[in-house]
Amino acid sequence: MKRKILIAIDGPSGAGKSTLAKAIAEKLDIMHLDTGALFRALGYAALIKDFDTRDAKQAAELIKQVELGIEFENKNQKVLLNGKDVTPYLRTEDVSIAASNISVHPVVRDYILLQERQLAERESFVLDGRDIGTVVLPNADVKVFLIASPQVRARRRLLDLINAGNQNAEYEQVLQDIERRDHQDSNRQTAPTKMAADAVLIDSSNLTIEETVAQVLALVEQIE
Ligand code: C5P
Repeated sequence: MKRKILIAIDGPSGAGKSTLAKAIAEKLDIMHLDTGALFRALGYAALIKDFDTRDAKQAAELIKQVELGIEFENKNQKVLLNGKDVTPYLRTEDVSIAASNISVHPVVRDYILLQERQLAERESFVLDGRDIGTVVLPNADVKVFLIASPQVRARRRLLDLINAGNQNAEYEQVLQDIERRDHQDSNRQTAPTKMAADAVLIDSSNLTIEETVAQVLALVEQIE
């Protein structure tokens, strides 16, 4: 890849954005930023400090108290809270809900927006999130909005949870959590999950990851 390129992959929870973004970054040998992990880190910080994620004032106070750091080790993203790597603690359902709650506050979004733009300024990146194509990088070179049915997303998420050792995870509960997060992420006032007017919609319900990657790489080829 010769020139700098920015790729935005947005969509609802569990559509496979991170897996897709990681694969695209590997193919193109560029960086990948999972922006959900940044919101998750703040959600996690709120949980351990016992802050109310729904309260805007407490969210603002939390941001003053914690320093969010992003590092890459061999291109693998690590999220630090006050210098400590918290990446291993971010994928639980409790943290998913806390992240979704805390991400509604404009003060939180502004704080993370700044970090996202600083990174994207430096070099070529694939960013995945909810508002990358609409708010964070409105001039991204390629924008994808990745969807899949709630049932397909719940089945994938359930497999992830079971593979991560959570044998008690239940399909109905996972589906309910996904639908609740969809609703909250799509209906918040600031930067809701929304497809950019110039994004390409990909429904991965009946596609393999390889097929989805191929579709995005074809879009990248068109711009080069
Ligand atoms: O993508 P992931 O499930 O890790 O994101 C966790 C939560 O963080 C989402 O439910 C959403 O509320 C929030 N988020 C966001 N904007 C982004 C990425 C994530 O609001 N760009």
